[in-house]
Amino acid sequence: MDGPFARRFSDVAMVEAVKTTGPSGFIQVGPNLLVVDYGKILNPEGSQVGFLHEDGLLQGTGEPLGRWDGLKTIEELPACSFRGIDGKGLQLELPGAQRGPTGGLSYNNQVFNVIFGRIATQDHRLIGEMHDDGTLLFRDRRFPGVLRKMDENSQLSTKFTGIKSNGQPWQHEFSRSLHRADKSYWENEIIRYFEDIDRVNTQQKKYVFDTMKLFAVTGLLQTVRKNEGTAGLGNVKHGASGVTGVRTGNVTLDREEFEKEVNFFKKFGALMAVPSRAKPFIEVRINMVVAHEYGHQLEFCLSQAAQHTIEDVYQKRRHKCDRLHPIPEEAETYSELIQPHQVEERIFVSGYARTSWHEYWAECVAAYAIKESRDTLKQCDPEIYELLTQVVLEPEKVLSPKLQDAMLNLQASLRVGGELPENLLAE
Ligand SMILES: [Zn+2]
Repeated sequence: MDGPFARRFSDVAMVEAVKTTGPSGFIQVGPNLLVVDYGKILNPEGSQVGFLHEDGLLQGTGEPLGRWDGLKTIEELPACSFRGIDGKGLQLELPGAQRGPTGGLSYNNQVFNVIFGRIATQDHRLIGEMHDDGTLLFRDRRFPGVLRKMDENSQLSTKFTGIKSNGQPWQHEFSRSLHRADKSYWENEIIRYFEDIDRVNTQQKKYVFDTMKLFAVTGLLQTVRKNEGTAGLGNVKHGASGVTGVRTGNVTLDREEFEKEVNFFKKFGALMAVPSRAKPFIEVRINMVVAHEYGHQLEFCLSQAAQHTIEDVYQKRRHKCDRLHPIPEEAETYSELIQPHQVEERIFVSGYARTSWHEYWAECVAAYAIKESRDTLKQCDPEIYELLTQVVLEPEKVLSPKLQDAMLNLQASLRVGGELPENLLAE
């Protein structure tokens, strides 16, 4: 159906979709106690007399509520309160005990309304609370009922304009230390992690940003930088492409190897097959040196149990590899070598991953960094893929216990700030 009727229908459908997200419970209006059903305020006869949003904004369309255009706050109606659950089934009390500021909040450039301390999206979803001293607490959609208090580690750029709960005009700002205002959180984190970012060319810069973005948007890069260290370019002897200092925790990447790898990546993508000196064998290689060295730092942030799991998974694969793809005697390597037609049946995502469980982990972290090789890892090594998915999306299951709280606070913040998307692994 075309024309004005079709449009009317889709408008109705949209309004209904919004309304079904409202709270359910009872609203007290003076002497009257009315039922609220998914936001619809019903009179005792069951007719709708208004609508309540979970952020405490409401519209009246009939008695005993009254009738007005637009929205009012529940605080504006005398002797009015709500008790029940919000659209997600969490306890909700309006106005509630807390009375904070009212105004407009920009959080990492995302726009929210604050209504007497209740932080809500433009479509009235309640996402947290703000206090008169600027403290922000966010709901964590992964842990219903939990409010995560922001601190200088987790809070993103904040700007508030409005009034405090006592009516006094108030402007409030918070910026992260060393934050470049023209860049997003994740770009800032990569700039702080990769110390030589301003000393590499455009293509190399893009490589670093593309291969480290996943770890930046999930907060894992910040966690590693604070607990282990940063990365920079230098001169690494013995032909290694990079080293991770055990004592300092900092990574030094060999500049020449780094440049070579960026070129490989541009030409062949994340994974490529290189011929071995032992004919006719080949070795699969991952062209992601920054993410690989980062993987070594990340290993130190894992719990003991997670490290043991990695070691176990590695040993199983190593035995299988030694049985199915034994290294030919003439080859002086620890890498998995295969014949060109065996690429799909290889045991390790890359040949080098066979070397030790530490290198195995670093190679898997590198493979996980971008979609192209992440999909390959999922096929080739589903067990380690699952563990890596926990590292990025359920860090409380695998990170070192001392890092978990800070990490969950940070991820709650990154979700509110629009940095950490729902479909993280889809792109
Ligand atoms: Zn390594």
